[in-house]
Amino acid sequence: MTKIRDEIGTLAAAFGSMAADLKDHQDKLLTYARDLESVISKQGPELEQEKTSIETRVAERIAELSAANDVLRNQAAELSKRNREITLFSKMNDFLHTSTTEAEAYSIISETVTQLFPGDSGAVFVLNASRNMLEAATVWGPQPPANLIFPPNDCWAHRRGQTHLAIDHERWCPHVGNDGPMYVCLPLLAQGETLGILHLLDGQPKGGQADEVRMTEKCDLAKILANNVGLGIANLKLRADMRNLSIRDPLTGLFNRRYMEEALAQQLHRVTRDKAQLAVIMIDIDHFKQFNDSSGHDAGDAVLRELGAFFKKHVRGSDVACRYGGEEFLLILSPSTADGARLRAEKIREDAALLSVKLADNKVGAITLSLGVALFPDHGAKAAALIKAADVALYEAKHNGRDQVVMSREESGSIPLKCS
Ligand code: GH3
Ligand code: MG
Ligand code: MG
Repeated sequence: MTKIRDEIGTLAAAFGSMAADLKDHQDKLLTYARDLESVISKQGPELEQEKTSIETRVAERIAELSAANDVLRNQAAELSKRNREITLFSKMNDFLHTSTTEAEAYSIISETVTQLFPGDSGAVFVLNASRNMLEAATVWGPQPPANLIFPPNDCWAHRRGQTHLAIDHERWCPHVGNDGPMYVCLPLLAQGETLGILHLLDGQPKGGQADEVRMTEKCDLAKILANNVGLGIANLKLRADMRNLSIRDPLTGLFNRRYMEEALAQQLHRVTRDKAQLAVIMIDIDHFKQFNDSSGHDAGDAVLRELGAFFKKHVRGSDVACRYGGEEFLLILSPSTADGARLRAEKIREDAALLSVKLADNKVGAITLSLGVALFPDHGAKAAALIKAADVALYEAKHNGRDQVVMSREESGSIPLKCS
């Protein structure tokens, strides 16, 4: 019994100890739970704040990305615009380098400007040969400039050699109408020389502050255009000069013999097709050796120069005047008739005798001409035969006493018209 009582006592003690341990654990857990609660309650606002700050940063980042996206989109649009402009410029330059006539080149320029500045109007003005007037070489747009020729000093851009942007009337050039739209004038320069101006009239109505920004942007693009156009025109002039050098005689400014031969072949084709006639007049200065000997070689040159200008005045657009050799000239009158050619030759003979030539303010002696006229197809069916027939007629004029016109009647014969 005593043994059983002891064991129960031991068990009770063990339970008592277990209960105390459990109580201890429970207390610890409760303390832990309280501590946790206290930590959560302390850190809650901080976490909330952190969350708000993260959300703000995310919103800012999205706004930044969206702004960057806008910038990129604008840059892409700007790039595509620049790309289009570069393509237009390079196309224009290609065409300008291969264009053979001024008309062709200016039509390419106006086409390009119309595409670069849609809705705007304008013109390219170039200095004329005597450099005292700026003349419109091409105009474009719905309201092209009204004043198409004016003195260079009437344009500020030309006078100052700088871009001239006119937004308000205080800066208006004299060549521009007072009630017109805003405009920009840019000098066309090449190798330091001003060749003319590019004149660009704004196509939009005036609208306050935005005008200045728009016109300044227009100005920037127009500057690139003016550089390209300036070089294009200089190139065109250079090629025209080179061509002139290769086809013209430097002393008289008349066509040379090589060009005349090409032109005669072409004209013969044309009159054959048109069943028309053509005349060749071979002209030689009488006793020119004597003239040189008595008046000097420079005086002889002055006479040749003056005769060059004189022949240019005596031929029509479709005719060709050339220096055939030293003091010999050849005119192609195309088309012509026997009577027409004879009368023209007579008039040339008469007027040449009246020419007053000066050398260093001194009048040099007068000259006379002998002329031989041959008609296609009557006196020669081919270029060489025709020239030969005119030469034979000229020889006869010399033989008959000079200062006269002799008309070839047929390939083998000729008849004098007048002896003086
Ligand atoms: P003709 O009436 O028979 O034609 O006699 P001509 O003296 O005119 O003919 P000729 O053929 O004997 O002499 C031509 C002269 O033309 C000789 C030459 O000195 C001159 N001449 C040719 N070319 C030039 C030039 O470029 N300048 C000058 N000053 N004289 C030239
Ligand atoms: Mg001669
Ligand atoms: Mg002669």
